[in-house]
Amino acid sequence: MPDPLSLNVQHLKASETITISNEAKRRKAAGEDVYDLSVGEPDFDTPAAVSQAGIQAIQKGLTRYPPNIGIAELRTGIARQLSMLSGGRPVNADNIVISSGSKQSLFNTCFALFGPHDRVLIPAPAWVSYPQIVHLCRAEPVLVPGDIEWGLKVSVKDLDRHYSKLTKGLILCSPCNPTGSVYTLAELRAIAEWARKHEVWIISDEIYRRIYYGPGPAPSVLDLPDELLERVVVIAGASKSYAMTGWRIGAALAPPHLAKAIAALQSHTTTGANQPAQWAAAAAYTDERVEADLERMVAAFRRRRDYIVGRFRAAAPGIEFVEPHGAFYFFFRVDGIVEGTPIGGAKFCEMLMQEEGVALVPGSAFGDDRWVRMTYSVADKVLETALDRLFRFIDRLAAVPAAEARS
Ligand code: PMP
Ligand code: GLU
Repeated sequence: MPDPLSLNVQHLKASETITISNEAKRRKAAGEDVYDLSVGEPDFDTPAAVSQAGIQAIQKGLTRYPPNIGIAELRTGIARQLSMLSGGRPVNADNIVISSGSKQSLFNTCFALFGPHDRVLIPAPAWVSYPQIVHLCRAEPVLVPGDIEWGLKVSVKDLDRHYSKLTKGLILCSPCNPTGSVYTLAELRAIAEWARKHEVWIISDEIYRRIYYGPGPAPSVLDLPDELLERVVVIAGASKSYAMTGWRIGAALAPPHLAKAIAALQSHTTTGANQPAQWAAAAAYTDERVEADLERMVAAFRRRRDYIVGRFRAAAPGIEFVEPHGAFYFFFRVDGIVEGTPIGGAKFCEMLMQEEGVALVPGSAFGDDRWVRMTYSVADKVLETALDRLFRFIDRLAAVPAAEARS
C-alpha cells in the first residue's frame, strides 16, 4: 500500500470533462472514428490580432517574470470592458488579479475565502470543478438543485432551503455551464439581496457572459448597485470568448482586501500568469478588430444552437432539454428514453461512445445523472454527423426491451 495522501486531496477526482475528452483524443489517435462533443472549447483559431500580439511580446523580449497581479495593460483592458458592458459603471483595474485561466482565479478566490467548517452553495447542475475546488479548500460544497420548470436555475427559495449558519459562499454561473441557462437581472438582484442579508459571498463566474443569444451582453452582477456588491467576486476569462483556451488567462475582480490576498497567494504558487499570453489577452480585450471576430464566433454558436434545438424538436420530440440562451452547451434528459427503465447519463454516454463513437459528458459530472451534456463548440459538419449518430442511437435505445437496457 502506498503512503496515504494528505486530507487536502481526500475528495479529489480528476475533471470528468477533461478525462472524457482525453479518452476521445486517444481513440482518435488510434484511428477510431470519434466525434468529440465533450469538452467546451471553441473550434475557432485564436483571432489573428491576438496571436500576433503574443508573438510580438516574445519578439520584444517580454518574457521575464510578469507582475504577479498581471500586466497593467490587461487589467485596464478588462476593467474597461467590464465597465462598458455594464453601462459605464466604474470598475477599478487595481481590484483585478490575472491568473492562469479562470479556473485558477476561482481556486484562488475560494482558497482565500473558504476553509474548514464553511459551506458553499452551488446551484446544480454545476460545472465539474466547483465542488472539487471547494473540497480542496477543505470547505463543504452544498449542491442546490435547480428547478426543471425554470431552466434548472435556482431561486432564493431554493437557496433558503439549503442555507445554514455555516454558509459562507455561493458560486453562480451565468450563462451556465452545463445548461446554457441565463439568469435575468431581476433574478440576479433577488439572489444578491438574499446573499447580502445572510452575509454570504457570491462568486459570479461570468466567463460566458459575451456568448449570449439575447440582446446585448448577458446580465451581470456588475449591473447591480454598489451596495449589493460588497461581498461579490466576478470571474472573467479569455478562454471562451476569444478562443484562447490554451493561453490560460483568467481574472478575478474582487474587493481590495480579497484581491490582495489572492495576489499574495499566487505570489507563492505561480508568480503570475504567462507574460506573452497576457499581452495577447490584452489585445483581445482592447483591439477593435477582435470584436468582429468575437461577433462572428458568437453568431456561429447561435446558429448551431438553433440547429440543435430544431433537430431535437423534429427527431426526438419527447426528450426534455434546457433551451440554451448562452454559452455553448446543450443539456438534455435521457432517463425517460427507455420506457419503464430510467437509464442514467453515465450508461447512456458509455453506450453512445461504444456504439456510435460520439463523446458526450454524463450529467453525473454535474451532479444529476438524469441528463447528458453536449457541447456545440465544434465544426458544423462534426455537429451534423454527431447528431445523426445520436438520434440513430436514441431510436435504437428506445426500441430496446427494458430488461435488456438495464444489463
Ligand atoms: N468556469 C466555467 C463555467 C467553465 O466552463 C470553464 C471552462 N474550463 C472555466 C471556468 C475555466 O476556464 P479557463 O480556466 O480556461 O479560463
Ligand atoms: N469548461 C470546459 C468544459 O466544461 C472545459 C473543460 C474543463 O475545464 O472542465 O468542458
